[in-house]
Amino acid sequence: MTGEEIDCARCDAVCCRLTVVLQGDDDVPDRFVEVTDAGLHVMARDEEGWCVAIDAARMRCSIYDSRPEICRRFAMAGAYCRSVREDYAESGRRGIPLTMY
Ligand code: SF4
Repeated sequence: MTGEEIDCARCDAVCCRLTVVLQGDDDVPDRFVEVTDAGLHVMARDEEGWCVAIDAARMRCSIYDSRPEICRRFAMAGAYCRSVREDYAESGRRGIPLTMY
């Protein structure tokens, strides 16, 4: 996948399946938050593994303007983005019709 042109508009939003640990300044509605056994506040995920803040009808982040800091810092086409896309493709799940932005 190296060298592949990456654009959020043509991605299955696989970054929104990663664990999002909330930081002190994050202001996310409580209904989207879970507390792990280790006591970390994280974005809750659904049975499929996607963040529950995804607006399923519009396939975009429903809290985009107030999304957590870690989501803001995630670099499209950066090393981590490429790595999770590669893992996702290898898992054979490519093709789930989720598109962000
Ligand atoms: S808060 Fe928004 S950008 Fe962050 S993982 Fe959830 S849906 Fe994606």
